[in-house]
Amino acid sequence: MRKLIIFCQIYICAFSIGLAQDGEKQESRSVTIIQAGTLMAVAGEKPLKEQSIVIEDGKIIDVLPSYLSTYEDAGVKLIDLKDKFVMAGLMDMHVHLAMAGGPGKDSGDVALAGVKNAYKTLMIGFTTVRDLGATDDTIFKLRKDINSGDIIGPRILAAGQIIGVGGRSDGKECNGVESCRKTTRDMISHGADWIKIYASCSGGLLCSNKDGPSVFFDDEIGAIMDVARKYKIKVAAHTHPRDSALQVLKYGVSSIEHGSYINDEAMEIMIREGVYYVPTVSVMDLLEDVVAKGENPPEMLAHDQAFLDNNPGNIFKAYKKGVKIATGTDAGVVPHGKNYREVERFVELGMTNADALKAGTINSAELIDMSDRLGTIEKGKIADIIAVIGNPLEQIKDIENVTFVMKEGRIYKGTKD
Ligand SMILES: [Zn+2]
Repeated sequence: MRKLIIFCQIYICAFSIGLAQDGEKQESRSVTIIQAGTLMAVAGEKPLKEQSIVIEDGKIIDVLPSYLSTYEDAGVKLIDLKDKFVMAGLMDMHVHLAMAGGPGKDSGDVALAGVKNAYKTLMIGFTTVRDLGATDDTIFKLRKDINSGDIIGPRILAAGQIIGVGGRSDGKECNGVESCRKTTRDMISHGADWIKIYASCSGGLLCSNKDGPSVFFDDEIGAIMDVARKYKIKVAAHTHPRDSALQVLKYGVSSIEHGSYINDEAMEIMIREGVYYVPTVSVMDLLEDVVAKGENPPEMLAHDQAFLDNNPGNIFKAYKKGVKIATGTDAGVVPHGKNYREVERFVELGMTNADALKAGTINSAELIDMSDRLGTIEKGKIADIIAVIGNPLEQIKDIENVTFVMKEGRIYKGTKD
């Protein structure tokens, strides 16, 4: 016992060591209790007042009414969030943490950007992200080092490099059935949690307009989907024009990214098949700025204006019809560290505050098949918990005021561990 005490004085002890009645050493339990003034345990349900969340080994083991300061025989670390609005960690389903292309940029720049962007994202309360396109394999290394605790950032599900028809410096090529099959297999063997495909032109090109073409042949999409299904990996499709969305939906993708011009037929397929819509409406911030400055050629400005005129109404239409919507900012194209803009934009286009918060928690967890572990504050879930000043159910901008961040039971912001 004496040796143990000396050991504890030198190093940080993970457990409190006590003496049992018979003099033998005993490792007692250690829990964290969060006293939450307002708790939105499940977005969409009425928040509760004066609740206690009990956390042990990174998991929520109890949510109880009233403020507790003890729990069974466990040692307790108490966190006072009595004056805060407490909710599940937010999730962004479309980011590019490690994408730093451009003149003069190398792999070192990509890595550094990834580390900085990951930190920024977690500190504003986004505890999980789906990364849909990186310059190289850095994103997989970042995911690994965040998982091990060496780097601070959100939980990452990564697609790695995007699969396209070629001609992009940051993409993987799919040209013909064999090539598409090989590329998809390569991405999965490199560690991709998702496959991301460019099914249409980028939004910054004229060919991404409403009537623009799909870029893959049917058999190419078919080959990608066959491989993904074989390895039980889901596919997210970047698409703007109407027809490219219809094409990828026919082959069974799991999420439509941007989907600027999805029509009624596409929305009905999405509802029927449970396909998620990640409209990346935050990009409107950027487009509004571009149009206001008026520096683009007239043809391009008209194209951008058409996006601005179409998107809010079309996204709202999909929402009202019952298409499942998840938050995804396209951070990397828009600045990192402002991921809350997507939730705010949802409310601006007509979603209720509760549904916007649901898109950023419950819906996102469902999209990545982690509903059993993430998205709500309930017994048995992973302890990803944030607190904000104010009440985002009343005023959505309060979602910017994140003062406390816990991921998997560890505190990254607010009261330190
Ligand atoms: Zn993107």
